Order: sequence, then C-alpha cells, then structure tokens
Amino acid sequence: MTVELELYRAGRTDSQGWTLLRLASVIDVSLVDVPKIPVTVIFLAGCNFDCPYCQNAEIIPLESGSESTPSEIAGSAKGFLTDGYCITGGEPTIQKELPLLLKELKAPGKHVNLNTQGSVPDVLEAAVPFLDSVWFDVKSSPRKYQQVARTRNDPWPRVRRSVELLLDADVLFWPRTTYVGGLTQADDIEDILDFLSEIGFHGEYVIQNFIKSAGTRESEVEEFYSAPESEATGFAGLARSGISVRLEWR
Ligand code: SF4
Repeated sequence: MTVELELYRAGRTDSQGWTLLRLASVIDVSLVDVPKIPVTVIFLAGCNFDCPYCQNAEIIPLESGSESTPSEIAGSAKGFLTDGYCITGGEPTIQKELPLLLKELKAPGKHVNLNTQGSVPDVLEAAVPFLDSVWFDVKSSPRKYQQVARTRNDPWPRVRRSVELLLDADVLFWPRTTYVGGLTQADDIEDILDFLSEIGFHGEYVIQNFIKSAGTRESEVEEFYSAPESEATGFAGLARSGISVRLEWR
C-alpha cells in the first residue's frame, strides 16, 4: 500500500464549527512511555506512513478512530492520577488541530510528550510551544526512508526539517529507532548516528527491539523477527562524540 504524504486533514469542523481530530483511544496510566513520569496516553488515529512492522496497524487508516473536539479529548484524558500526557498514534502531526489539543492539556506541573515520526514539520512547529519532550522515531537510514515508510514521496527532507527545528527549540528531543530483525541493518544505525552527529545532536539515542504483537499485521511481518539483544550490543560501539547509545530490549 502506498500512502500519500500530504493526506492530512486541514481544519475539519463539525456542524457547530468545533474543530475535530480523530481519536483512537485513551490509556489512563502508563509508567513506561515517558521516563520517570506517569502519564495518560492519548492515541490519535491515522498515519501517513505505512511501516510494515507497525505495532498499531489498525489505526493507520485515515478514517480510523472517531471524530472528537480537542476539548472532548482533553476532557477524557484529564482527571487521572498522572503527571502528564503522551500523545501518540498513528501520527499525531497529520492533524492540523493537534496544537489546539496540546493547548488544552498544557497546565502547570503537567508534562506533555509527543511521539512523532516528524513528516509534517509545519504542524510540529506549531505544536512545539506546548511540548516538554518529543520521542522522535527515526525510521531508518536517510537513503532508505521512503522504502521503509512506503510513502509516495520521499519523506526524508521533511523529517530532517523536523529534527532541525526541534534541536533549535526549547524541548527535550529524544531520538529513537525500532530495530527490526530482518529489516534494519547495522549500516542503517551508522547512517542515523552520522546524521545526528552532523546535525549537532548531543544526548542519548535509544534503539529498541521490534516485537510482534496483537497490533502488527501477520502478513506484513512474516520475514521479520525480534532480534536477540546480542545482535545489537555492537551498536554501543558506534556512538559518536557527544552521543551515547542505549539499548532498550523488552
Ligand atoms: S509505525 Fe508509526 S509511522 Fe509507521 S505506520 Fe505505524 S504509526 Fe505510522
């Protein structure tokens, strides 16, 4: 399946003029999505990529989930005993209304984290003032981005722009790659580290392992496997000056 990169919904409203987003689900408490901070997780539906190893494949379709206003979504996410929010998907930035939701969630003492693959830098830029941290999914080597994301156009220039704007912003930038056995190669990791180094990133780069789950599509992941940690231990030795590599094997 090829997905049109530009296919995000601009300025959708309901009959009363309320701005709409597509919500998949809300998880009341997560202790694993943001380091050391319990958060409520908001899954927005729809994605403009079609990674074969996607763990949330049922919410890739742009028509998945249900339409809700930013206030309705914020209302369903507030009131839990957490210290913030993680907004994930799908790809949250395909929804131009994302900053409105973040504005509703932003409050003193609440951490707001976004998970993104960075293919819509304009929306990301508008979202930045409301964010404390960003998990940035670096899919692959720049030269293989379109192949892995399976988009009609190469998303890499936009992804690169997103990384650049986040590095210039007052927000914690946490780059992360899912290591998919049978798909990700050692030289992909080298290329990503070279890019992060070249662009001036200093900090921790996380590599996590792919695991098949109820959310993956069996027909798409037949040739992939969950690599043993021993297959990745050499990546720590690829670290660049100012960048450390941390393996997160689940
Ligand atoms: S892995 Fe992320 S970017 Fe890729 S299709 Fe799934 S939701 Fe979209």
